[in-house]
Amino acid sequence: MPELPEVEVVRLFLDNHLIGKTISNLEILNKKSFTGDPKKIINQKITKTSRIGKQLSIHLKNNLILLFHLKMTGQIIYSPLFSRGMPAGQGVSTFGHPTPKEDKSTLPNKSTRLVFTFSNGSKLFFNDQRKFGWVKLFTSNELDDSQKNLGLDILSSKFTSKYFYQQIQNTTRPIKVVLLDQSKFAGIGNIYANDALFLSKINPQTPSNKISFKKALLLHHFLIQIMTESIKAGGSTAKDNKYIHPDGSSGQHQFNFQVYQRAGEPCLVCQTPIKRITLAGRGTFYCPKCQK
Ligand SMILES: [Zn+2]
Repeated sequence: MPELPEVEVVRLFLDNHLIGKTISNLEILNKKSFTGDPKKIINQKITKTSRIGKQLSIHLKNNLILLFHLKMTGQIIYSPLFSRGMPAGQGVSTFGHPTPKEDKSTLPNKSTRLVFTFSNGSKLFFNDQRKFGWVKLFTSNELDDSQKNLGLDILSSKFTSKYFYQQIQNTTRPIKVVLLDQSKFAGIGNIYANDALFLSKINPQTPSNKISFKKALLLHHFLIQIMTESIKAGGSTAKDNKYIHPDGSSGQHQFNFQVYQRAGEPCLVCQTPIKRITLAGRGTFYCPKCQK
């Protein structure tokens, strides 16, 4: 599943390519992939993009918002010049879960659920092999309502160290589990939780309320730092975090993983083998020596 940095990379791309474009058609190839009245988006200009956590919004001139969630296998493919049946790779930018081999030849293909066409002929394909992802049309009130249970986006200016410390102080759950709780912090995923804890030298099983203010400051700092670095690197690609970006290449951040998916490999600081445990059902990686 894409995490915050990957979704932010998609948002930056769409921001560059879609602002000012007018939607001329929406083809719905899988009913469940789209919620709302598709007529309401026709002839609407795209005015801005935004994001909270892993949810991406495209704002329209009539103040309606298209909310995208890629979930496990969602993919956004943008084709600036489109002719039906054209080879999928030509001039096309792809984000999200890699296209299965059999689907690589043309667009639309059997994973295509939605096709947005713009008045200049360019197209945006929403592909989703397993159909968990979706696009929903909302008014701004409906959007606020649907996102009211999401915590602060960790790249928002309101995500301060003070806010972070307060949030982790009121629970005894293991810090790793709390970091992944989207109702507290929107957008921290498994990769980044593991690595930020390693860099802060905090054991992932530590009860959250036992973390000192000093350690909380470090953790807050590293969370923001690795997210920001990952966005610059174009997001990450890992075994359970299938993600590729324009031109089909993979994000580069995986080469910087500190502990994530490195079980048994030497710690980058002290050479102790990295340990893997399961916390709240998620693979958790840490150095037993550095993160006591
Ligand atoms: Zn170590």
